[in-house]
Amino acid sequence: MSEYDCLIFDVDGVLIDSSGSYPEMIRRTVEAEWKAAGFTADAPGYSKELNAVFKRHGGFNDDSHIAWVLLNIMASGNTGSGSGRLRDCIPSPAELEGIISSCGVDSAKRWLTANYEERFPLDRVAETCMNIYYGNGAEPGVRVMERPMIRSHWSEFPLPAYVFTGRGASEWEFAKDILSWNDFPNARIVSSDSGILKPSPDGLELICKNFGHKRPIFFGDTTSDMMSFKAFGRGKFVAIGQILRKWDPNFPCVGDAMLNLFGWRDM
Ligand SMILES: [Mg+2]
Repeated sequence: MSEYDCLIFDVDGVLIDSSGSYPEMIRRTVEAEWKAAGFTADAPGYSKELNAVFKRHGGFNDDSHIAWVLLNIMASGNTGSGSGRLRDCIPSPAELEGIISSCGVDSAKRWLTANYEERFPLDRVAETCMNIYYGNGAEPGVRVMERPMIRSHWSEFPLPAYVFTGRGASEWEFAKDILSWNDFPNARIVSSDSGILKPSPDGLELICKNFGHKRPIFFGDTTSDMMSFKAFGRGKFVAIGQILRKWDPNFPCVGDAMLNLFGWRDM
């Protein structure tokens, strides 16, 4: 492993188990917005299976965009004699895979507005997502469901640690609390507030350039992470979790990956 000089981590699905927060945020947003539009929310507005389809695609890194895309796709199939029932309008995983196969990996917003009427505006959907994620008044946000996927402090890793995430800076603050990594330096993280979004390689470029690294090991869990790495073209990509189970190497968690790669043990 001596050929590698730093570790770069994605956050969700790698450092933080957010399977109880972001997919839940999408589900509640889809149901709430569907109902607010006068339709009937008589089925779950999202599922683990639909999430896997979006995350395998590579172009859907921003979860509020997923809720927005899903709502507008469903509304477009609900014209004329449409029942307005969520149960009839929500695509199956196979249908969704077919629908989004014509969307490029860096053009989800353009693709949606070119192909569908925007009956659910992005700003409004994103605001509903944030209210559900952070909580609103007495209602706790779904972020309380997040759990750490590693116990050690970032400074204990065998190589210098960095973060490249689709989270905004304030969502990263919560992640730091969950990890007890509150002293993690801001200079070492590229968040979505930088304007850099996966599958762009620019987050990996920026970290390596700023800190003089050449061959990072990048840990990610979705296709957009893998594509960022491929576009970057140096170092190694290590897949975590089920979505990229065909990638070699793939591990269930970062602790297992580092034990296998370095003989390093999470505390
Ligand atoms: Mg992730």
